[in-house]
Amino acid sequence: MKKDLNENLGNSSICIHAGNELYAKGVPTAVKPPIFMSSNYRLPTDGTEPDWSGIETYIYSRNGSVNQFILEEKLARLEKAESCVVLASGVSALASTFFTFLKSGDHVICSQVCYAAVNLLFRYYLPDKYNIEVSLVDTTDIEEVRKAVKPNTRLIHVETPGNPTTGISDLREISKIAKEIGALLSVDGTFASPICQSPLDLGADLLIHSMTKYINGHGDSLGGCVLGKKELIDRIKTEAMVNVGGVISPFNAWLIARGMVTLPIRMKQICNNAMEVASFLENHPRVRFIYYPGLESHPQHELAKMQMKNGFSGMMAFGLKASEEEHYELLSHLKMIVHAVSLGDGESLIVYNSKDNEKMKLYPEEFREGFYRFSVGLEDAEDIIADLDQALDAVFKK
Ligand SMILES: *Cc1c(COP(=O)(O)O)cnc(C)c1O
Repeated sequence: MKKDLNENLGNSSICIHAGNELYAKGVPTAVKPPIFMSSNYRLPTDGTEPDWSGIETYIYSRNGSVNQFILEEKLARLEKAESCVVLASGVSALASTFFTFLKSGDHVICSQVCYAAVNLLFRYYLPDKYNIEVSLVDTTDIEEVRKAVKPNTRLIHVETPGNPTTGISDLREISKIAKEIGALLSVDGTFASPICQSPLDLGADLLIHSMTKYINGHGDSLGGCVLGKKELIDRIKTEAMVNVGGVISPFNAWLIARGMVTLPIRMKQICNNAMEVASFLENHPRVRFIYYPGLESHPQHELAKMQMKNGFSGMMAFGLKASEEEHYELLSHLKMIVHAVSLGDGESLIVYNSKDNEKMKLYPEEFREGFYRFSVGLEDAEDIIADLDQALDAVFKK
């Protein structure tokens, strides 16, 4: 008698198959989406050939996965973008963009103040390995951007506010230059988050965020996204996501979608906290300089007021009237603020950039003596201020 596969599978087959069909059907009344970790999906049985490199049907998780699509939809709606791709990290989103839209012989204009990996990609890897020409310029100065244009300029990449200086670049003006010369404008908006700035409305073609930062906001997963016209995003998906492979894990996509639930309310608290902390630092006699886009003393404050919204986000940079040793000593006295990289978490995070840092020459004069990058967190503003205050006292009132 032939075996009835609906009735009595062997133990090995049961371990593998039992219950899966219930999981695949989902629970239609669940309020929250489950995590679909499946790396592959059932193919059609009607004789049609699947589109193996397709990005819109479920085939394999490198072509797209359920939690990825959910997160992409949230971000596209939030940024009012036609389309979105989410990838494994912010750097993956940036590298995928450059890989997709640049080829040998092209020229790029890039903010000289930008994320470390972008700086390395444009200073070494892309020129040396792929013959891409790069001009790193001060994009807060529109004339510098204009002067850098060449006949083969294909991309202008701008980070605003810039990491770590918080310099603001004029996106409306830069997008005019990009349009005149037929180049794409990509903007890294990580420092502002989707709440405090809308680069796509200001003329950017591609908007990139490290979701590791404000969008997830909980410091427990990496991710990156690129937003823009569907035609451009589809190219990133087909060329870089499927074939270079920096896809996000369904678990991280699920965590970030979960973190996003509180993004607007977190940004509200962070913007308020940052304004209070920045005012405290600006008035402290031991603070040599502070850059926060919300302060009138910030060199591009007027532009920040026009270009940003709902506040000025939570990133600032400041230096003390102090030696390098004293700058480090302050970190050891902090009781609540955490000495760690990254930004946009619940915890206030601080890092010191020493004057020996090789990138110092790219930053404005004040920074070159050494400075802190400070990501103001979600704690109570008075506690953040009290912590800075007592640490400053400990260093200077010995
Ligand atoms: C952190 C960061 C990145 C890189 O993102 P990862 O998620 O760490 O890969 C890119 N741009 C800016 C402005 C960042 O702060």
